[in-house]
Amino acid sequence: MSIILNESAQKKSDTSSLVGKVAIITGGSRGIGSTIAKEMAKRGAEVVVNYNSSKEAADEVIYEIEEFGGTAISIQADVSNYEESLSLVEKTQEYFGKVDILINNAGITRDRTFRKLSEKEWTEVIDVNLNSIYHTTSAAINLMIEQEYGRIINISSIIGQAGGFGQTNYSASKAGMIGFTKSLALETARNGVTVNAVCPGYVATEMVQQIPEKAKEKIISKIPMQRLGTTSEIADAVLFLLNNSYITGQCININGGAYM
Ligand code: NAP
Repeated sequence: MSIILNESAQKKSDTSSLVGKVAIITGGSRGIGSTIAKEMAKRGAEVVVNYNSSKEAADEVIYEIEEFGGTAISIQADVSNYEESLSLVEKTQEYFGKVDILINNAGITRDRTFRKLSEKEWTEVIDVNLNSIYHTTSAAINLMIEQEYGRIINISSIIGQAGGFGQTNYSASKAGMIGFTKSLALETARNGVTVNAVCPGYVATEMVQQIPEKAKEKIISKIPMQRLGTTSEIADAVLFLLNNSYITGQCININGGAYM
């Protein structure tokens, strides 16, 4: 039996280079997003670091990228807002001429047990974590399909898979991202566009620093590897997905064994 591969599938890609690729990372100013932005830039991608309010932190990321000879700009946009998300993608296209990679990373928590959870806390989390990926992706998807190349990676969470006490809003938003990932992957599989998710466990960023010390110790004691993850460990999985053209619709777990 002979299996005929199309030209792009046969073309062996450099396993780490992102030279010539233009990447947008939402929430690239801090935490996991800032590490992914720097790692993509180190591999030659031209990077747009999106932020909402942390201008100084975003400028610091740009400075660090330029220090090692990379190319990056920062663009302010609240991705929970549809118009601002469209403008983020439009400005990227105007500046760099295209969009190849979209990392939907921006996220917030408003933890509260369900009976105390306000409508505002519910809506804020759904807007920033889930509605945002509709906003940014709908702005970028036609560009990717036209150029027959695209990589979309959604930063979901173990909480979207296993649930989390006091996190109905966050868990629903992160589970929604996984469903979105699989459905869009089906729709774009023939267009050179892969859509994947990563599901980090607990990672040492400001988001996790908000958890009270006692609760954090309890969480770590339940992680088989007995430690938090690092932002680099999440970025490694993102880079792996960016450089593979036959993985789509998947959710890669990076959680120290906390959910299998
Ligand atoms: P973080 O340190 O709190 O950083 C969050 C980032 O999102 C910041 O750059 C922030 O920028 C940006 N952001 C927030 N709201 C935004 C908005 N409306 N528009 C644009 N950007 C916005 O969080 P992190 O821990 O790095 O988390 C990054 C992603 O990983 C999130 O989606 C989170 O849910 C997910 N995750 C984290 C963990 C963890 O343990 N840390 C585990 C699983 C999944 P501004 O400061 O400018 O608002």
